[in-house]
Amino acid sequence: MTEDAISPDQDPEADPPRQQPTVCLRCGTPGPVSEDGFCAKCEQALEQACL
Ligand SMILES: [Zn+2]
Repeated sequence: MTEDAISPDQDPEADPPRQQPTVCLRCGTPGPVSEDGFCAKCEQALEQACL
């Protein structure tokens, strides 16, 4: 017998990530930034610039 016991998953915020409003220090684009405060795009640019 199959048991179609669908448990009511009512967890809209089961795991709320800490989303702080962050903007890139270089280009000012709001979004996920690294610990340095730069977005991935600028990080690559900085890496190349630092070479
Ligand atoms: Zn940036």
